[in-house]
Amino acid sequence: MLKDKEDFIPLSKPTISRETIEEVLSVLKSGGLATGPRVQKFERKLSEYFEGRIAMCFASATAGLHAALMTIGVKKNDEVVTTPLAFVATANVIAMLGAKPVFVDVESDTFNIDSNRIYDACTSRTKAIIPVHYVGMPVDLDPIYEVAKQKNVRVIENAAHAFGAYYKDRKIGTIGDIQVFSFHPIKNITSGEGGCVVLNSESEQRVLALQRFHGINRPMGEENSGGDYDVIFPGGKSNMSDLQAAIGIHQLEDVNMLNERRRYLASRYSYHLYDIKDKIYTQDVPTYDFIHSGHLFPVCLYDETKRDRFISYLKSNLIESASYCTPVHLFSYYQKAFGYKKGDFPNAEYIGERAVCLPLYYELKESEQDYIINTVKKFFE
Ligand SMILES: *Cc1c(COP(=O)(O)O)cnc(C)c1O
Repeated sequence: MLKDKEDFIPLSKPTISRETIEEVLSVLKSGGLATGPRVQKFERKLSEYFEGRIAMCFASATAGLHAALMTIGVKKNDEVVTTPLAFVATANVIAMLGAKPVFVDVESDTFNIDSNRIYDACTSRTKAIIPVHYVGMPVDLDPIYEVAKQKNVRVIENAAHAFGAYYKDRKIGTIGDIQVFSFHPIKNITSGEGGCVVLNSESEQRVLALQRFHGINRPMGEENSGGDYDVIFPGGKSNMSDLQAAIGIHQLEDVNMLNERRRYLASRYSYHLYDIKDKIYTQDVPTYDFIHSGHLFPVCLYDETKRDRFISYLKSNLIESASYCTPVHLFSYYQKAFGYKKGDFPNAEYIGERAVCLPLYYELKESEQDYIINTVKKFFE
């Protein structure tokens, strides 16, 4: 069925509407390319989406995570509890601040941090817990916030994958302490590059604003204006531009439509790949209380020795796929700096060696998905 190069099915592809392109053009024509009214509008719209909570845009989720950790006072020799099975950004920002990422293994079925083991991982040095909603599957938050209360530590949810996911009928980002979302082009909604931090406290919002723009003591939204100013803090530079916000505003308008389609396609994968359940397994999404964002669809090969061949076989059949992801404690820096070693987190390693993400995006057609499903099945025949 698929033969030509044009038929190549990518792992991911953002859907950019005509309105988005027109708005980006009008920003370009206006000359206002730095932070301006569109970033403010995007923040207002995000705040509405998150039921009135404060939303602050950043150049990336990584920059937002870094600023959030600094804002809650994470510093040298502190500890932050997180999952080893996630993109390295979370552990990196912890380490950048001189703190130690203390990993807690994941559950073998949901692939998320095992909330039952977090209590024992917290010490007198622990400042925060950073759960990651892995590939868009909401973490079981209630027990985590319970531990945070008992241990008097903060929670920063890495929600890079979880825009539009729900936990117990509440949107991720409308409950809890601090959430950080990513608008990288692979994520459910994009602003080109970008991210946002969602929080409760106006005094922490003020600190985040200083972190984000040179520590310049001006009212928010006027940081960029000319004239004299004072600097009251050695802040960085991680603001979002109006060009990015112009994209983000329209993506946000479309988010329900985009996510419904992702969830529909994910359920189709689950249904059809169940036929080869002795060869591959998928993340277990408990049916109620947890609504997945449909960000990525990883399948795990029981026989991990076949993984590289599986990926190159799909590629030769014009299907892009990718292994996802190396547990952070296996990277050389984390072994050298913190003494982690292979074998420390067996569930994360088991999944990390086996998971392969299949294409999942709004514009993926059912006929293309059927082709992917059949091609996957053929590999195992
Ligand atoms: C994408 C991602 C990030 C980083 O997001 P950026 O916006 O690219 O900085 C962090 N954590 C996780 C889990 C991610 O998937």
